[in-house]
Amino acid sequence: MRLSRYFLPVLKETPAEAQIVSHRYMLRAGMIKQQAAGIYSWLPLGYKVLRRIEQIVHEEQARAGHIAMLMPTLQPADLWRESGRYDDYGEEMLRITDRHKRDMLYGPTNEEMITDIFRSNVGSYKDLPLTLYHIQWKFRDEIRPRFGVMRGREFLMKDGYNFDLTKDDALHAYNRHMVSYLRTYERMGLTAIPMRAASGPIGGDNTHEFLVLASTGESEVFYDSAVTGLKLGARKVDFDNHDEVAAVCKEFTSLYARTDETHDAALFEAIPAERRQVGRGIEVGQIFYFGTKYSEPMGATVVNDKGEKVPVHMGSHGIGVSRLLGAIIEASHDDKGIIWPEGVTPFHCGIVNLKQGDAEADAACESLYAAIGALGLEALYDDRDERAGGKFATMDLIGLPWRITVGPRGLKNGVVELTSRRTGESVELPPEQAIARIAGIYAGH
Ligand code: ATP
Ligand code: MG
Repeated sequence: MRLSRYFLPVLKETPAEAQIVSHRYMLRAGMIKQQAAGIYSWLPLGYKVLRRIEQIVHEEQARAGHIAMLMPTLQPADLWRESGRYDDYGEEMLRITDRHKRDMLYGPTNEEMITDIFRSNVGSYKDLPLTLYHIQWKFRDEIRPRFGVMRGREFLMKDGYNFDLTKDDALHAYNRHMVSYLRTYERMGLTAIPMRAASGPIGGDNTHEFLVLASTGESEVFYDSAVTGLKLGARKVDFDNHDEVAAVCKEFTSLYARTDETHDAALFEAIPAERRQVGRGIEVGQIFYFGTKYSEPMGATVVNDKGEKVPVHMGSHGIGVSRLLGAIIEASHDDKGIIWPEGVTPFHCGIVNLKQGDAEADAACESLYAAIGALGLEALYDDRDERAGGKFATMDLIGLPWRITVGPRGLKNGVVELTSRRTGESVELPPEQAIARIAGIYAGH
């Protein structure tokens, strides 16, 4: 993309309404525009990152064997009357009446609808296990929408639902989600720690939240610092192997890590003092096993191998797709702007032409731009006739992890400059070598 033809409405001033850094930078970098409290338009740069995050989520869901679909945002109230949640959900639910006076709602989540789809189409244990998911906009009429996309009213969520014959199978589905989420967040450059969450009226300890450590997080967290060093990395996991998947979950949940809701002071005190940490975290996902809570009242049953009709065991599993943009920025920025991890960056590299209009510089930039495109990567080429300082400030603000700077002086010596946004380090290289470096960096993403 050539910046002269792009739509990147960068703000010079820091918007007064933004209290936290991710919100400030998303507004300043022209990624989002607020349309009403907690409701945003996704401008091209923000939309690009949103799509990248979605793509990673889809890939990791596919790897775990989960099946993508799409349910509508508007739902009939009757489904929610069956589960009893139409009244229980309270004021967070946006209720709508259509022209025929039918009660509708903008879905805050989809347990009822997916259960309805299941009961209409599945009748035998032979069709299990089954996990369906979608990535769809949700609406929750939050009492205090704030922090930009972190706590919106309209927000994008990946929500998945497993259907299993037995509790054991459903717990395997739970574990499968935990492992696939770990990898999902790692690919986004995040350390998201699974923390035991409050189980509510259902009981048991079968719910975990995934928290990204950040001083601006809304949850207070207590953890053993060793937990932050755990990495899934590139290891291969057989998602059909119950024991193997359970072992990974055990590895990631054995060290103490809890939010204030489940904090146990005695257990916490047992951690060696130097590893005891109290901080704040952003919830970027949650997984839940809830058994037959919906399948029983809604009649989602299968016939088992003895010919008996039994309600299926279910769980639901959510990732805060749009919140993740904020979480990633909170975790990765400096005083100049955002620093995108390679896995989610809106453009793989920036090209800054120090002397637009100089025949040699223009030609070198054009050829770099084409070469990056030929790698299947995308460059943002700042081809505007602007001073270098302004171009650098824009690149730093929007946070592309790599920048190639091209100017007549370097070209005389046959080199361009490759700069890491994260470290600020620059190297001078012939253009072909700069391209080779970029190719190498993204080979693993
Ligand atoms: P919270 O405790 O932050 O209100 P929740 O526990 O009610 O969230 P879930 O139902 O677990 O939310 O939804 C799954 C994920 O969706 C959350 O982990 C979070 O990342 C995201 N999410 C929930 N509410 C919002 C919101 N208002 N704005 C943006 N993302 C949200
Ligand atoms: Mg939650």
